[in-house]
Amino acid sequence: MADIIQLLPDHVANQIAAGEVVQRPASVVKELLENAIDAEATNIKLIIKDAGKALIQVIDNGKGMSTTDARLSFERHATSKIKKAEDLFNLHTKGFRGEALASIAAIAHVVLKTKQENQTLGTSIKIEGSTVVSQETVSTPIGTSIAVKNLFYNIPARRNFLKSNTIETRHIVNEFQRVALAHPNISFQFYHNESEIYNLNAGNLRQRIVAIFGKKTNEKLVPINESTDVVEIIGFVTKPEFAKKKRDEQFFFVNDRFIKNSYLNHAVSSAFDGLMPSGVYPTYFLYLNVPTNSIDINIHPTKTEIKFDDEKTLYAILRSTIKHSLGQYNVAPVLDFDRDASMDTPYNFKEKSAPKPTITVDRNFNPFKTEQQNSINFPYKREKTADWESLYTGIDTRDIEVESESIHSSLFTEEKQHNKTYQIHNKYIVSTIKSGIVYINQQLAHQRILYEEFLENITVKEAMSQQLLFPLELSFNKTDITSIKEIKEDLESIGFLFDKILEDSVVISGIPVTIIESQISIIIEQLLEDINNDIPDTSFSQLDIMAKSLAKSLAIKTGTKLDTKEQEDIVNKLFLCKEPSASPFGKKTFITVNIDEIDKKFNN
Ligand code: ADP
Ligand code: MG
Repeated sequence: MADIIQLLPDHVANQIAAGEVVQRPASVVKELLENAIDAEATNIKLIIKDAGKALIQVIDNGKGMSTTDARLSFERHATSKIKKAEDLFNLHTKGFRGEALASIAAIAHVVLKTKQENQTLGTSIKIEGSTVVSQETVSTPIGTSIAVKNLFYNIPARRNFLKSNTIETRHIVNEFQRVALAHPNISFQFYHNESEIYNLNAGNLRQRIVAIFGKKTNEKLVPINESTDVVEIIGFVTKPEFAKKKRDEQFFFVNDRFIKNSYLNHAVSSAFDGLMPSGVYPTYFLYLNVPTNSIDINIHPTKTEIKFDDEKTLYAILRSTIKHSLGQYNVAPVLDFDRDASMDTPYNFKEKSAPKPTITVDRNFNPFKTEQQNSINFPYKREKTADWESLYTGIDTRDIEVESESIHSSLFTEEKQHNKTYQIHNKYIVSTIKSGIVYINQQLAHQRILYEEFLENITVKEAMSQQLLFPLELSFNKTDITSIKEIKEDLESIGFLFDKILEDSVVISGIPVTIIESQISIIIEQLLEDINNDIPDTSFSQLDIMAKSLAKSLAIKTGTKLDTKEQEDIVNKLFLCKEPSASPFGKKTFITVNIDEIDKKFNN
């Protein structure tokens, strides 16, 4: 048989490599920023258009490239940063693989302009899909400018796979923040669609953190400073009372490189043990300096994970350093969790008796038909719900999808009179059905109910809004403000009213009727986190993510005691849902045990 193996042409090999290096616009941003830092720039400008889909440009004042180097930089495995394998264990640069520019040039339109200090004229190279279109001598400032246009123009599948501009921008902002935090001595400017997102002066670490996360951050920071043979740790953690529901402000840098490490993260969290309620997380900016030969950066292509020689020792040092600093700053005694309403779980029957509202009977309640009916906040504001009787009688006339109707009717038709509900372990609602027993997971069921109500509110009808007596000012960092601006309309469609959106705060004058005031900041934080999070398995619309997020935040939790009415309310509304059997996150909301199965157990 003839030989069939061939070497792939370079441009194909480059495209394949690009698949690893460039997942999204943010990956390009990271590579270009890191190249600028490796080139010893003291000022770096990042310019993006349409979330990086149209343009990503990085302009630096670093050392530039000679004409030959400029051309070579686009070759695969072309790097000035390592020469031999041993260099891998003594890295002082961000890059070392020599594949970023080759990969980027394989899947975009790239224009490079660069000039070194001693040159009068610089070089400009235009490359499209690995092909050099032109190379000429140009006048250009010292340093390098690389413009990457139309990313993935020749791989439609990848381009279509990109998320919404909001999400892609968040990824870019995250990368930018990581680089900017790692290098406070470099000044950065960041523009998106011509508007300035960040303008960061060179300064110290504290100034950089405050410039990125807002003025109010300053008072929250507790400095960390420790030097041992194994590691030098500097940076800040925030005081426990400023712990956040989001984990997005947790930064580890090792030798100025942003990394993720759940083991070290655990070390930090455990230093806060007993100082914070569960469900919130400390914010931290921690810089570890370790000998270059004690780490292996080489294990992950996108390089946010690294391997340490002696992680256990690092863990112990990190934990005790932070504990010590927290103690030193004497933060523990000022804590008073009982008073910190913002940390309450939204529904907590154990600690407080829910205000009993006046009861109105609404036998025809139907979340999909009734205009102003509101069932979301029922522990605080609960109407007397449709009882079991009305559920059976109403079912035929209601506009419910066949699926739910059949589940409903198959479950409940016969034993109308006997449908008592019980709650077990403050977790499941149990009831009898004609075929046996149904166990409903209260938290997941309530998530489903709220999810459908929110979706309905968002997509079909105008949501009700309650005017706040005093407008509420909440502070956010700049990134969150950008996101809030982008989802403002959606937030308004579910009942939020914004008075003003300022540089690092928003003034809210109205909220959905379903939410109580003290929950707002937690809900919005969670919402921003969820929108920011990439949910890879589905093509969610933003509205869907919002509905899910709100449902998750507001659903009654496992561990909450429910009275009979509340139990019935959940059961009723669950089976009026379009898809009662699964939570918005795809988990089972209820299970049934057939009488046959019970019989079998007795006959064993
Ligand atoms: P790596 O950074 O891993 O070496 P890249 O493909 O990112 O690989 O870059 C290839 C080479 O191009 C670098 O080693 C460097 O010599 C040169 N280079 C890239 N960007 C810049 C820049 N902004 N300024 C100066 N030189 C650069
Ligand atoms: Mg590089």
